[in-house]
Amino acid sequence: EKLRVGLLFGGQSGEHEVSITSAKAIASALSQNSRYDLQPFYIQKDGLWCNPTKSQAVLQQTQAEPSASSNSQVIQWQLPIEANQIDVWFPVLHGPNGEDGTVQGLLQLMQKPYVGNGVLASAVGMDKILMKSLFAQAGLAQVKYVALSRWQWQQEPESWGEYIETELGYPCFVKPSNLGSSVGISKVRDLAQLEVAIASAIGYDSRIIVEQGVTAREIECAVLGNDQPQASIVGEITYKSDFYDYETKYTAGMAELIIPANLPSEVIEAVQAMSVKAFQTLAGSGLARVDFFYVESTATVLINEINTLPGFTALSMYPKLWEYSGIPFADLCDRLIDLALEKSS
Ligand code: ADP
Ligand code: MG
Ligand code: MG
Repeated sequence: EKLRVGLLFGGQSGEHEVSITSAKAIASALSQNSRYDLQPFYIQKDGLWCNPTKSQAVLQQTQAEPSASSNSQVIQWQLPIEANQIDVWFPVLHGPNGEDGTVQGLLQLMQKPYVGNGVLASAVGMDKILMKSLFAQAGLAQVKYVALSRWQWQQEPESWGEYIETELGYPCFVKPSNLGSSVGISKVRDLAQLEVAIASAIGYDSRIIVEQGVTAREIECAVLGNDQPQASIVGEITYKSDFYDYETKYTAGMAELIIPANLPSEVIEAVQAMSVKAFQTLAGSGLARVDFFYVESTATVLINEINTLPGFTALSMYPKLWEYSGIPFADLCDRLIDLALEKSS
């Protein structure tokens, strides 16, 4: 009896296209293994789920952009009937309504095992304010930051501006609390820019975070496992832009992955230990990519964030790090499915 794997991809976030590319890579790996009966489920940009036949067509399209979703007619949200027969789900959705625990909650209610993090780790990992307060609690070094709500800012913007300036100085980074892919993030150098950046960030989320800017190398580490998570070898991202913004992330050739990162062994060990600690702090399961700033002038490692459903294309950092650590892409998919089954048993 084959294991029916429900591959969930697409989704409503800004990372829709990345998700399709990730799903194509995973589908081609899984379909090479006779153990699996692959059932794809494509979630359109409007949030509607497609059945496996239609979803398969999206996976086979060569262009990045899938055909436009359903027209203006009102269709009620429903699960395709085939979803009832899935043995294990493999969600490859990034950002809000995918990486943040919402889909994980649905799969949990369906009483089926699923790859990756549960509701709690997914929700906390997506929310920078909660994530950072737990990291602080766990003693993980990170940049100084100020968290505030849209309402708080609107009450007294002058005093917040003054407070942020004295607490953090410039440059600082303004971010919506719940987002990814650098969407809504600005680097600011004075009060006028700070005000514009906050006005922009509060358009994306009702809570925002402002961080002290550091001049640092960007280091990433992959984690795999449930109760005994393992850290991969460590990679570095380099680019010529001002920071690792949306355009740099998703324009071919604008950023380079360096694996393994050229770092002193004690820095690598610190990154790996902090990655496992961050994963365990959030009660992670399955996988995560943990991102760091390495401030070379002071040899300091600061944790930036954890991504509970990292990019999973054949060229993405997460699978590449495991490939270089001795686990090829297809084996990594197998391990993740085994970890999902193990967790639910
Ligand atoms: P996302 O979850 O959207 O990836 P990040 O917090 O990772 O958001 O920020 C995106 C990028 O912005 C980082 O990879 C880095 O290039 C830059 N950045 C963010 N915060 C800081 C900071 N405090 N100091 C320096 N650079 C930062
Ligand atoms: Mg992120
Ligand atoms: Mg990031």
